[in-house]
Order: sequence, then C-alpha cells, then structure tokens
Amino acid sequence: MSLLENAAKTAEGVMVNGFVLSPVVEQCAGCDRVREFEGEQFCSSYPAPEKKWAAGRCNFATHVKTQVAAAAKVNPLKASKRAAKGGH
Ligand code: SF4
Repeated sequence: MSLLENAAKTAEGVMVNGFVLSPVVEQCAGCDRVREFEGEQFCSSYPAPEKKWAAGRCNFATHVKTQVAAAAKVNPLKASKRAAKGGH
C-alpha cells in the first residue's frame, strides 16, 4: 500500500494540505485510494471517509465499482441458465 502524501501529524490529528483526516471506515477496505500513515489508513481522495459512506456508497470507491461490474457479468449467466432449464 502506498503512503499518504504530504501528511503530517499535528495536535489535531493527521493533516494533509490543511485538512484533518479521519481514518478510513470498514467499507473502504480494498479501495485503491486507501493510504497508510503511521500505522493508520486514510483516504487519498476524501478527508472524512465515514461521511462519504453515511449517505450510501462512496462515489470515489474503486473496489465497489468492480463488484458491481462483476455482478453485472453474473446476472446474464444466471438468466441464460434459467432459460436453458425452462426452454422447450
Ligand atoms: S475513496 Fe471512498 S471508499 Fe475509497 S478510501 Fe476513500 S472514502 Fe474509502
């Protein structure tokens, strides 16, 4: 995993370019934008990951898009299997 760029530890927390960053949340696991700094994981695109997920799926998430694409590939297969079973 890459390190968080321009990060500095301050009294308020980990800061990047004037923003205090919150660590990533559970839903961020697997996202390409996760960066490591001093043993904690942060988002390279958004300072507050938990807010990003509070209203639904994070729109910057790289891993979730992949899952959606994978699901889209599976569904036509299921549909064709059903069609093969039921088709006369
Ligand atoms: S882009 Fe979204 S999902 Fe990825 S680490 Fe940042 S907040 Fe988490």
